[in-house]
Amino acid sequence: MKPVYLFPIFLIATGVAVAQSPAAASSDESKPAAPPMARSFDLTAIDKTADPCANFYQYACGNWVKANPIPSDQVRWARSFSVLGERNRYLLWQELDAAAKDPKTPLQKKYGDFYAACMNTDLIQKEGLEPIKPALDRIAALQDTKSLATLVGGLAEHGDPAPLFRFGVQIDEKDASKQIASVGQAGLSLPDRDYYISDAKRFETIRQQYRQHVTKMFTLAGDTPEQAAKEADAVLKIETALAKASTSRTAMRDPENRYHIYTLADFQKIAPDFDFDIYFKDVQVRPFETLNVSTPDFFKEMNELVGSEPVENWKSYLRWQTIHASAISLPKAFYDENFAFFGKTLAGQKEPTPRWKECTSETDRALGEAVGQDWVREHFPPKAKASMDQLVAALEKSLGDDIKTLPWMSDETKKAAEEKLAMIRNKIGYPEKWRNYTALAVKRDDPIGNMHRNAVFQRNYNLNKLGKPVDEKEWGMTPPTVNAYYNSSMNDINFPAGILQPPFFDPDIDPAVNFGGIGVVIGHEMTHGFDDEGSKYDGKGNLREWQTADDRKRFVERTDCEVKEYGGFEAAPAHGDVPAATLNGKLTLGENTADNGGLRIAYLALLDVLAKEGKSIDDKIDGYTEEQRYFLGFAQVWCQNQTEESARQSALVDPHSPGRWRVNGSVQNFDQFGKAFGCRKGQPMFPENSCRVW
Ligand SMILES: [Zn+2]
Repeated sequence: MKPVYLFPIFLIATGVAVAQSPAAASSDESKPAAPPMARSFDLTAIDKTADPCANFYQYACGNWVKANPIPSDQVRWARSFSVLGERNRYLLWQELDAAAKDPKTPLQKKYGDFYAACMNTDLIQKEGLEPIKPALDRIAALQDTKSLATLVGGLAEHGDPAPLFRFGVQIDEKDASKQIASVGQAGLSLPDRDYYISDAKRFETIRQQYRQHVTKMFTLAGDTPEQAAKEADAVLKIETALAKASTSRTAMRDPENRYHIYTLADFQKIAPDFDFDIYFKDVQVRPFETLNVSTPDFFKEMNELVGSEPVENWKSYLRWQTIHASAISLPKAFYDENFAFFGKTLAGQKEPTPRWKECTSETDRALGEAVGQDWVREHFPPKAKASMDQLVAALEKSLGDDIKTLPWMSDETKKAAEEKLAMIRNKIGYPEKWRNYTALAVKRDDPIGNMHRNAVFQRNYNLNKLGKPVDEKEWGMTPPTVNAYYNSSMNDINFPAGILQPPFFDPDIDPAVNFGGIGVVIGHEMTHGFDDEGSKYDGKGNLREWQTADDRKRFVERTDCEVKEYGGFEAAPAHGDVPAATLNGKLTLGENTADNGGLRIAYLALLDVLAKEGKSIDDKIDGYTEEQRYFLGFAQVWCQNQTEESARQSALVDPHSPGRWRVNGSVQNFDQFGKAFGCRKGQPMFPENSCRVW
């Protein structure tokens, strides 16, 4: 489980709801070809027929968007994240492929075997459902709902997916020096609770399609169509009840809504029909007396369900979860059906992800810090780290300057903000010490067994933290990842080696473009420490108010301005009887605040650097001033195409706005943009009134 809330700059849109993505089952795919390098700055992307003051995204990205349709195995294609991500994955694949054929070290043997097992579709085809038979047998043997905890605990113990709820160890939100046990809501298969609850026609249709999908999967598993349909009804019934009991994504963004400390005895009182003691023993967690019950109402409702749903329905639900979660390692008919619903229907993906891509990502998820060691040796020069250190220092200084001159904040709160800023720790490239994978046994001829052993290994790693000091050196992303994050409980910013390349960062290009790229990313992550969510934590990572009451009031007035502004942006157009989808201004507030702050402070940092180098922001390259190149470099990070299905899904589940609004929303809130492009006050990108938090 991922109890810690990380704030990445980008959410990878996939065609499936869970980590187990669909994959092609053919084993004779041609050898992958090297994808091109992403370009740092692209004059050919610019649509000169567009007016930058009316729609800057169209101006900066218009021609790129036209010339770069979504590849058939993707649901979103972004100029930066996707192009670079595909390249990093290809380089990682080269390493895995070589290790699978001719490993040079024990670690290479381990990840090579893991990858090879995942790729062995002939074996997967031959084994059929055999690898998940022990779990299915255990589920079939369930006698009554009193034994549900024993069953769920037993499944978890063996690494079979244990649905219903999440359990793990997290940093205590109010005492960030401690690590505590935590349980939270889970148990759904569709991307969000709204899919089960909304009475909009679109969701009714999706639910019908989902019911058909579950029915087909049960039929493939050997049930008669009548039995399968009945089981699908039970799955829908239980998942819908769990969805209704779940707290919404937007509400979960408020840390107080997910922090409820219970004694173990009191927790048992809200869910007396599910014996958590048995479950805790099965997953072999050290004894503890208190825990965080992030969403108590969910567990009350889950307990009701245990009492009210017949045992046969529970068996159907658990059986479904087992088959569904194993889809990537089941025979081709299961893949294809899984892809048809989660890839094609839900996200608009045309073709399944090639197997080699899927297995590369799967190995990166399981053994990321093993593969990553070799990856950074090859692809992350020490020079890149030194440049990043300088950039981060420049951004820290400009955020400090920005805080000092903020028009709405009292001196008292400014002092507290500066203290928090000074305490942010920076992690760049890759971990100082690598994780130890000795305890993970990998077998070349057992793909599902590897998944199960990996699940147990990852859980033990997490549960072993209980009661121990927080490891400040730990990373939440693997080195080749094209992303970055802020962690509010650790008050640190993290930039994996994978993102420190073009188009984000290019040692050979003018500083304006680099500040518009990686500079804004750094500024974005730092600003997360001060957005509506991050600002509730102090420099030590404790959930504690450090703003005065008046300043908090003014802060909320400012964030409300952004909620309203972004809530008016369209995420997908209306057509036929399907209404347009708009952004959820509350769900995306933290990311929008971070985008706005990032753009402003990277700009300030650029001014400093240019001044030091004796250059002017008005110097021209390729017909654009440095100032204009800064905004173009920023905007071109966000050029993207996305299927309509995926855009609608993102509008519900992704806290990030789509590329168009990350660009236009940010520049229209920053007057320097309108000035740089000679816009008239009152034009869309240079409005009379705009929002500003930081
Ligand atoms: Zn972010």
